[in-house]
Amino acid sequence: MKDTVAIIGGGTAGLIAAKRLARMGIKTTVFDQKKVLGVPVRASGILSIDGLETLGIDYFRSITNTLSGADLHAGGEVMRVRAHRPMAYVLDRRKLNEICREEAEDAGARIELGRQIAGAEMQKLSRSNIIIGADGAISAVARHFSMGAIGRYITTYKAEYASRAAEPGIASLFFDNKIAPGLFGWLCPNTRDILEVGIGIDSRHGNAKAAFDRFIGIDAVKDAIGAGQMLNGYASIIPSMLRERIVDPVREVLLVGDAAGQVKPTTGGGIIFGGNAARIAAFCINEHLIGGSSLKTYLDGFMDEYGLELRLHSAINGFYSSAWGRTLGGILAISNAIGIDRFLGRYGDMDRPSLIMKRFFLRSLAG
Ligand SMILES: Cc1cc2nc3c(=O)[nH]c(=O)nc-3n(C[C@H](O)[C@H](O)[C@H](O)COP(=O)(O)OP(=O)(O)OC[C@H]3O[C@@H](n4cnc5c(N)ncnc54)[C@H](O)[C@@H]3O)c2cc1C
Repeated sequence: MKDTVAIIGGGTAGLIAAKRLARMGIKTTVFDQKKVLGVPVRASGILSIDGLETLGIDYFRSITNTLSGADLHAGGEVMRVRAHRPMAYVLDRRKLNEICREEAEDAGARIELGRQIAGAEMQKLSRSNIIIGADGAISAVARHFSMGAIGRYITTYKAEYASRAAEPGIASLFFDNKIAPGLFGWLCPNTRDILEVGIGIDSRHGNAKAAFDRFIGIDAVKDAIGAGQMLNGYASIIPSMLRERIVDPVREVLLVGDAAGQVKPTTGGGIIFGGNAARIAAFCINEHLIGGSSLKTYLDGFMDEYGLELRLHSAINGFYSSAWGRTLGGILAISNAIGIDRFLGRYGDMDRPSLIMKRFFLRSLAG
């Protein structure tokens, strides 16, 4: 029987799984094709504080800014959501990866860098190890073990500018299915002096860099960038649906993180869902090794915790990404008039739309 685990991919999901497994005394090795983990930083690092707390990572050293609100733009209208407390942190993704790596190694996991796993080597590893595919959106593990497709991707382009934000604790999102079909454009003060500008579009709608070039031509974006110099720019991809299969109990293969498509379709955020999936995967592997339970419990465990949230995120994304900017603008105007901005400021939750709905209905019933 296999009693060791090989994790392909040393992003946050793979490293969180490694730490959890090693802590349970399971011999675990992480393989990553990169020589230095976490670079280049192609993704942003905006994470809800409540979500971060569920990951059990000592993430404080990676905080670069604190967010307590967002401006939502559509069709010329703006909804200003202001929370009474800090809601999210902006994290330095490279540092976050380093912290996850340190924690995994301290727990006893081995990390092998510069090791791209594919083909015969994957086959060989799988003969003697349970495999966790944590190798990102275009997963070689998923392909090798025929675990089906991810039905929808968002392509992204983001850049940093040397610009000082007018309100350093506020991010801005721009919804318009002409400019950002499938997701949105965003501005985020990564630090006091660095503004991130990015856009995500459904991959069937063309090129994210071309969409980015149109986005930075919008007056509000141009004003925010001002004379700031562009410091870097990266294209990337985000899965926007769960993969057809995330576990093969017979061959003892599990997918976590972007490889599994464990990303919120509303925002493209994947660290919280992927990191928690890694926790669930580690728990199920331990139960499998100790008590012989099927690894299928991983799918059940993940869907129990996140199935409803994923369906709600998908429905919300389906709504705003198919509506015209003017229609969304009208909805924002009405929402402002009836106080939805204040409700979101008080009860908003970036990760769990079901909680917002519950709070909304409870408040409606109460008064
Ligand atoms: C522009 C953009 C903005 C984003 N913003 C946010 C945000 O604000 N908040 C948030 O929560 N999420 C955000 N995300 C999503 C988030 O970055 C991902 O969900 C997260 O990085 C997924 O982590 P992972 O560990 O699953 O995969 P990855 O971070 O992709 O790591 C996969 C690792 O596997 C390695 N690898 C791949 N193939 C192989 C192989 N064959 N052999 C060995 N190693 C291999 C890679 O080198 C890599 O290190 C954003 C993404 C993008 C693109």
